[in-house]
Amino acid sequence: MSTAEPSPPGGEAVGEQMRVGDLSEEELLAIITPFLPSAAQTPVGTGDDCAVVSFTDARTVVSTDVLVEGHHFRTEWSTGRDVGERAAAQNLADAAAMGARPVALVVGLVMPPTTPVTWVRDFAQGLAQGCEPCGAGVVGGDLSGGESLVVSVTVLGDLEGRAPVLRSGARPGDLVVHAGALGRSAAGLALLSAGSQIVAAAEQDGDPTQARACLAAFRAPTPALAAGPALADAGATSMMDVSDGLLRDAGRIAQASGVVIDLDDPGDLPDMSFLEPVAALVAGGEGATARALARTWLLTGGEDHGMLATVPAAPSTPLPADVSVIGRVLDPQAPSARALGHRPGVLLGGEPVQERTGWDHFARV
Ligand SMILES: [Mg+2]
Repeated sequence: MSTAEPSPPGGEAVGEQMRVGDLSEEELLAIITPFLPSAAQTPVGTGDDCAVVSFTDARTVVSTDVLVEGHHFRTEWSTGRDVGERAAAQNLADAAAMGARPVALVVGLVMPPTTPVTWVRDFAQGLAQGCEPCGAGVVGGDLSGGESLVVSVTVLGDLEGRAPVLRSGARPGDLVVHAGALGRSAAGLALLSAGSQIVAAAEQDGDPTQARACLAAFRAPTPALAAGPALADAGATSMMDVSDGLLRDAGRIAQASGVVIDLDDPGDLPDMSFLEPVAALVAGGEGATARALARTWLLTGGEDHGMLATVPAAPSTPLPADVSVIGRVLDPQAPSARALGHRPGVLLGGEPVQERTGWDHFARV
């Protein structure tokens, strides 16, 4: 970002009516820069043509994710703060899923001139909120006018001497583990899609803890970022964050590794009992329909960004406390993998799973 005179957070009075089209880029930067989190390991921060970031490891993990208004978020469902937190969280999760510690974000933001300046300020606060758990910072970016809101975030992460954990390293005999929530973002989207009355009921009555958590998870997930490097330290043989649903992402590890991922039936997972009251709100009552809905969210819901990994049955260090064992890795030639025709794939409770089951990025929210 170009040079801007920082003002203290909250020091700039931003009127609710002010639009980004009313300001120069320098004026807009002066409003948002004070809210952006700074990164450690950054000898040169924002204000020059480039920032300079130092890493303890010569290998840097890099990834970019894009969020588009109307495809990934709606301004009537998510605040600027939600979008900023979500954009940070999903990128930080990508770095953590390689076994790296996320260090820095570079943020591009395209905005129609009618965008409220308060939205952009809130977005910067959301970036800070998302970075807070892992101490990452925003080291640069760009602002531009455009037809709709588009957020592009690039993450840089430090492997700190760990080998990068790929999707292709799962081995027969490994355990399949997961850290973080499953299905909550999908449940939150279902609540919002069901209409404002159900959302109001969810936020005020019934089982507000679960429903509020699911709404919050859809608006801005909170990935288990520390579990990524911890699982790498425990000898994880493969890992990714769950962005497109447990079954679909497990299938990606299975295909990349040439193995069968044999997932336990999720009926007894704590996530099921967490999601069932929310499913009852959406389905209009408890029972088989609600239970099936909760199961669908858990197995196919995307965007929670938990860490899905395979680890040796005897890991080199104890598994982090927030990690659950959810299955095991089989050789495709094993008799128990017969249902998949001895090809790589996913079994759920012993049954083959259809490929491409999960979140569709080309569907609109
Ligand atoms: Mg990922």
